[in-house]
Amino acid sequence: MIKYNLKCENKHEFESWFSESKEFDRLKNKNLIECIFCHSKKVEKSIMAPSVTSSKLHNKQKQISNLEIKNFKKDLLKLRKFVEKNFEFVERNFANKVREVYYDKNSKKNIYGNATTEEKEELKEEGIDLVNIPWVDKDN
Ligand SMILES: [Zn+2]
Repeated sequence: MIKYNLKCENKHEFESWFSESKEFDRLKNKNLIECIFCHSKKVEKSIMAPSVTSSKLHNKQKQISNLEIKNFKKDLLKLRKFVEKNFEFVERNFANKVREVYYDKNSKKNIYGNATTEEKEELKEEGIDLVNIPWVDKDN
């Protein structure tokens, strides 16, 4: 058995077991591998992060990057709060709502919600560009 870290086109990462390394390719060719989160069939093997050694140098690098991530996350939280305060959340039919707002010249509404990759592509073809925002959890 061999374990792979897999990653879909929407950057979901998950692990999966295969009987041998060739099995991944075999199943992928048959479209039998899909993301456990969004069921996308565009799944690739993702490079596994090298395990962290205990050398001083590595520890130092690890601390810096953790701090950077924390700061980055703070900014993302600010962004999230801004969006939540100024935008209206659309839970269902986000793509349709986007169209409503886009084609209604009088509407100055800002909305946010979830769209599938397909919907985003469709909207893009209509000239509506969406902005992807990394959504971070408020706690932890
Ligand atoms: Zn996915």
